[in-house]
Amino acid sequence: MISSAEVVIDSDPCFGACDIPVHLFGISDVIIQIGHTRMPSIGAIPKMYFANILVDIDPVYVVRQALPMLRGTVGLVTTAQHIHHISSIVSFLEGEGINAIYSRGDMRLDSPAQLLGCDYSAGLDIEDRVDMFLYVGDGDFHPIGLAVLSERPLVCANPMNGTVRKIDSLRDVIMKQRLVAIERAMQAKTFGVLVSSKLGQRRRTVAEKLLASIKAAGRSAALIQTNIVTPELIGSYGFDAFASTVCPRVAIDDYARYPKPILTPVEAEIAIGARPFSDFRFDQILAEQ
Ligand code: SF4
Repeated sequence: MISSAEVVIDSDPCFGACDIPVHLFGISDVIIQIGHTRMPSIGAIPKMYFANILVDIDPVYVVRQALPMLRGTVGLVTTAQHIHHISSIVSFLEGEGINAIYSRGDMRLDSPAQLLGCDYSAGLDIEDRVDMFLYVGDGDFHPIGLAVLSERPLVCANPMNGTVRKIDSLRDVIMKQRLVAIERAMQAKTFGVLVSSKLGQRRRTVAEKLLASIKAAGRSAALIQTNIVTPELIGSYGFDAFASTVCPRVAIDDYARYPKPILTPVEAEIAIGARPFSDFRFDQILAEQ
């Protein structure tokens, strides 16, 4: 037990459970990451702890408002902040005569039914068994990938502000943005292939395969290892376009910040003609990659 301790606030950005602060190893006795759950696929990290922040609002009141929009078997998904309410949501829906199920998902997830902005396995694993999805949580960041990846309708019930809505129109906006990014990169002769040095974002094998595909398509390319992607970094290299194997949301959410097109691995393959557009997929980092 620690009776007294000097607390140091790490001022570097921390984007998620993938983002292990290795720069603190050896200079801190204990590292506490606040607001995220652990990522089991990374493995145990000595002296590192995750302090999730649970939202203490019972979401049943907003799930009740969503009832008129629910039909058939409902797949439940949520974020780490509401994960402790999943069983009470299931009980409530069953009491209303609605069959609700959820999945363990893969080993990047700490809890069943959990979504990450890069991992939709908790929803996609049960896609064939449900008629629609109900996301309980706030914002678009977590559910948007499931809305793009799945044909099933997705209703969002937000316990924080009491709203219930579909996000189908946002799916169309994202698809148009990605199409524009792919078209901008089609004429690129040179690609920088971004590889993350963050433990939970590192996709070196994907990056090396992409590098080989780009070269095989007659373009030139080089790997760029980086911890954080910024507009300054992207602007400082002379490549025409970038293929990103780091956090998928760098390319998808921040595309307007960058002076050059940044594509996810699947999008880069489409841009160089190695994959048809009909094979488009919202990028994920799954446990087996
Ligand atoms: S890779 Fe991106 S979306 Fe996934 S946990 Fe890390 S920061 Fe979040």
